[in-house]
Amino acid sequence: MEKDQLFTRRTLLTGVAALGAAGAGGALALGLGNGPARPPAPAPGPPQRSPLKPSAYRLQPLTGYGAPRAAPRQPPVRSEPILRMSGRGRTMLLTFDDGPHPEYTPAILDTLAKYEVHATFFVCGEMADYNRDLLARMYDEGHVVGNHTWSHPQLTTLTRRRIRSEMERTSEVVEKAYGEAPRWFRAPYGAWNRTTFQLGAELGMEPLAWTVDTLDWTTPGTGTIVDRVEEGAAPGVVVLSHDAGGNRSQSVRALRRYLPRLLDSGYHLTIPRRRLI
Ligand SMILES: [Zn+2]
Repeated sequence: MEKDQLFTRRTLLTGVAALGAAGAGGALALGLGNGPARPPAPAPGPPQRSPLKPSAYRLQPLTGYGAPRAAPRQPPVRSEPILRMSGRGRTMLLTFDDGPHPEYTPAILDTLAKYEVHATFFVCGEMADYNRDLLARMYDEGHVVGNHTWSHPQLTTLTRRRIRSEMERTSEVVEKAYGEAPRWFRAPYGAWNRTTFQLGAELGMEPLAWTVDTLDWTTPGTGTIVDRVEEGAAPGVVVLSHDAGGNRSQSVRALRRYLPRLLDSGYHLTIPRRRLI
């Protein structure tokens, strides 16, 4: 994509309002957005609001000038992760875990850019630290970066102190390389416990799991990965794939095949937006 096109796209997308579709009762669904999950760059428009008490957020009008960047709202402490999205229409969310990887992640980003689709990357801190340029690219191209711990341990076997370290260090490196701290967290192996929910909320992150597991890490063949995505496709589905942790060339090739077909079927691939409390 040409730079000027990119600029135009980002300028347009940053004006899109965040709309949390689920209320407090919709614990397993998340709100949708059509643009990058970040506040707009300084631009002419309404002045930046002062931080408000959480209860006052309800009263905020829905404009593109959402939560002040300096005062992110702390999400609630959940007892289960979010598994799917609520929202309107045939909307799905693609997520890629364990990267970024210097070979596979750029290939995935190239395909996403070709179709102007945004995705969510749950990165490991130790991978992100060595591939900061890829996090910067993700920011530039409008993708969301989430926290997938530093070294991918099974958190439920660790002390609270170690879990905090795994999560905190990762948020720090993401903030440095991506430009803002992650707002989404995914536990390795889907192994959540109370401590992970508490610490995630303290660090300003919502727990996001998945609906459809491609099991691409077992390298079942490109066709099988494509079939799993296409058979699992449905409104609100969150798809789990991987861009690192082994040979992910099947995952890369599968995306090239299923992405245009999902789009042809009328699906809109998007990124998560923090719901309004
Ligand atoms: Zn993982």
